[in-house]
Amino acid sequence: EPVGLPMSEKENNVAKIKVVVRKRPLNKKEISRKEDDIVTVYDDALTVHEPKLKVDLTAYVEKHEFCFDAVLDDVTNDEVYHATVEPIIPTIFQRTKATCFAYGQTGSGKTYTMQPLPLRAAEDLVRQLHHPNYQNQKFKLWLSYFEIYGGKLFDLLSDRKKLCMREDGRQQVCIVGLQEFEVSDVQIVKEYIERGNAARSTGSTGANEESSRSHAILQLAVKKHSEIKDSRRANDGNESKSGKVVGKISFIDLAGSERGADTTDNDRQTRIEGAEINKSLLALKECIRALDNEQIHIPFRGSKLTEVLRDSFVGNSRTVMISCISPNAGSCEHTLNTLRYADRVK
Ligand code: ADP
Ligand code: MG
Repeated sequence: EPVGLPMSEKENNVAKIKVVVRKRPLNKKEISRKEDDIVTVYDDALTVHEPKLKVDLTAYVEKHEFCFDAVLDDVTNDEVYHATVEPIIPTIFQRTKATCFAYGQTGSGKTYTMQPLPLRAAEDLVRQLHHPNYQNQKFKLWLSYFEIYGGKLFDLLSDRKKLCMREDGRQQVCIVGLQEFEVSDVQIVKEYIERGNAARSTGSTGANEESSRSHAILQLAVKKHSEIKDSRRANDGNESKSGKVVGKISFIDLAGSERGADTTDNDRQTRIEGAEINKSLLALKECIRALDNEQIHIPFRGSKLTEVLRDSFVGNSRTVMISCISPNAGSCEHTLNTLRYADRVK
């Protein structure tokens, strides 16, 4: 029997797919190098002024215009939350699986943008749990946090334990062994997020370098708990103690989009990782497009990332893509690539 409540007209009207661009300000280094800010934002559109040279070496500017659901320039993280995740929150109680992605080149602000969102979402979800409408529903909020690195899954909340995936008979994705934690207040959510962040892959080359090669996935699930324990399902991995999923939201800090190009690198490991990242970003785009066209067959098997998110690409789903861009002239090529990707998702 369905859990959760029926959608109200208002909740049903929340866009199925939303593509938002966020431009970060020039940083100190870019300013000291006197780099130009080549991205101009007007309302929901933007123009990239690409510096180019003619054959006789005279400089000129090629303009590229794009239009999205929203373009955020010089905004706070709170404003990002209002424009992206906040409208989705009520739908989570109405059997919706929602996903919020941060896409873009390394250094464009994905992590900066993504970090505060689950915390704000948890705050709103916890408040809803205590709403009179839901008080006798026995809803609880659960958190998990894992990483996909080189095509493998690691639990960020249990010593990077390696995880594997399984599909049950009802086409539900189950990540075997993934630890889930009940979270009843925001302070606890904050502690889990910090713990998970500390466990993200870091190498000798520094944290941002390595984390740019992995996808980090934080999930908040609302579950409905019944009085009677079903002993058979109680042994069933992560679905155990926790009841039936009503709805959930996944926050995904994607690998740096430029990493897909590492397929030409001389280092074998880097090349393999690059190919994997490329595959997952392409598969992601295909899945979101299929979702948008209401296709029955969603090509989720294209990568580990999309397989893990399989249950978020069927039924009631909501997707927000936040494309992060750098404003400096030196990032022009990556910025255009990011915007073209986002444009095709839209
Ligand atoms: P990414 O995760 O895409 O590699 P980060 O989120 O780590 O990029 O951002 C790179 C740097 O830029 C960080 O030092 C971050 O604090 C800063 N930054 C990113 N976005 C903004 C922003 N909107 N406003 C101010 N600083 C930002
Ligand atoms: Mg990052």
